[in-house]
Amino acid sequence: MKGLCILGATGSIGVNTLDVVARHPDRFQVVALTGNCRTETLLKQCLKHRPAYAVMVDARAASELRRQLKAEGLTTEVLAGAEALVEVAKLPEVDYVMAAIVGAAGLLPTLAAARAGKRILLANKEALVISGPLFMDAVRASGAELLPIDSEHNAIFQCLPPGFRAGIAPPAVRRILLTASGGPFLTTPLEDLAKVTPEQAIAHPKWEMGKKISVDSATMMNKGLEVIEASLLFAVPPERIEVVIHPQSVIHSLVDYQDGSVLAQLGNPDMRIPIAYGLAWPERIDSGADALDLFEVARLDFQPPDFKRFPCLRLAFEAARAGGTAPALLNAANEVAVAAFLERKIPFTGIAGLIEHTLNAIPAAAAKDLEAVLAADTSARRFAAAQLAAFEEKR
Ligand code: NDP
Ligand code: MG
Repeated sequence: MKGLCILGATGSIGVNTLDVVARHPDRFQVVALTGNCRTETLLKQCLKHRPAYAVMVDARAASELRRQLKAEGLTTEVLAGAEALVEVAKLPEVDYVMAAIVGAAGLLPTLAAARAGKRILLANKEALVISGPLFMDAVRASGAELLPIDSEHNAIFQCLPPGFRAGIAPPAVRRILLTASGGPFLTTPLEDLAKVTPEQAIAHPKWEMGKKISVDSATMMNKGLEVIEASLLFAVPPERIEVVIHPQSVIHSLVDYQDGSVLAQLGNPDMRIPIAYGLAWPERIDSGADALDLFEVARLDFQPPDFKRFPCLRLAFEAARAGGTAPALLNAANEVAVAAFLERKIPFTGIAGLIEHTLNAIPAAAAKDLEAVLAADTSARRFAAAQLAAFEEKR
């Protein structure tokens, strides 16, 4: 029996994780579930999975959950605040930590899990992008197991030789081929992109996901963050990572070996597949996903990405090459820009503009410690927020 902590249980990845876990009551015991403010969802999850701990970052939501759980007669201990996320991530009875908080908010608890030597199921790519080599050092020092849940990285992990460990370059790999659906605006005329709405941006053609990653998929910043994620996980420089647009989202990524063999992982676009693989690795268990019907898929298309259509992808490649605090600056500016777009404060095309402006204004430094990384995050957020305020004033 493995004890499980799900950071971000109430989100899309969290819900899919609990769906897989419920199919295997003999294997996993839910120890802790966390959310930010969606009390109703966490309450239902607690009633079903009976964790020892539940965390709500928002204090009022935590009091409300505590009251409701007590009324239901549950003994789950409810904790409040961001520090409680760190506490539950390193509990001794927790073996596996699903890192599924969205954005930089997941960094400290995910890093705590790495330092505590847990098996980390990493969905929260932003945590790794921001802290990069520091995170990988923490994993190596503690002997933690870092297993990628992002479908592309999980696919690559499945195509690498047994014995591969995150952060150690696998032998004889020529290139990593990261597939991308291209999102909802792959064929939208360029001149129409300034007018697309948040509703259109979050209506992803292939995947059902949280709002932030859906917008990131529409700008392809998601793929950019994934390039940085892949370069860290698989110890390959960004020059050897190629992005391939594959609208059917059936091939989840590929590894090109020096002998000319290319290995791929295929499956329906269903996050329960990589989640089940991470939970059971090195075994395989039922995920609940449907079997792939190749006759229904019928064809697989591929095309190179257009950096004019997707400037965020270019910015991410530049940050990946620059290293240091550049990925943290990129990520922070992107989080501010996406939130502003969702609140209709800037147009879709303003997302890349705001990020580029921030990256041009704040020089990247060496990411020598966590303080340096957090300082970069804060300064990029401040700069981007000030730009937004100035933009609003002009309107
Ligand atoms: P959701 O928006 O659906 O869920 C986010 C989760 O994080 C929720 O539990 C939310 O709580 C919690 N949360 C939000 N803000 C905070 C905060 N400040 N502090 C603590 N917790 C917070 O996101 P997804 O599940 O889609 O994505 C989660 C992560 O996984 C992201 O990093 C994403 O890039 C990655 N990922 C997701 C995929 C997907 O298919 N969805 C695929 C690959 C990667 P509450 O509900 O209370 O707001
Ligand atoms: Mg992905």
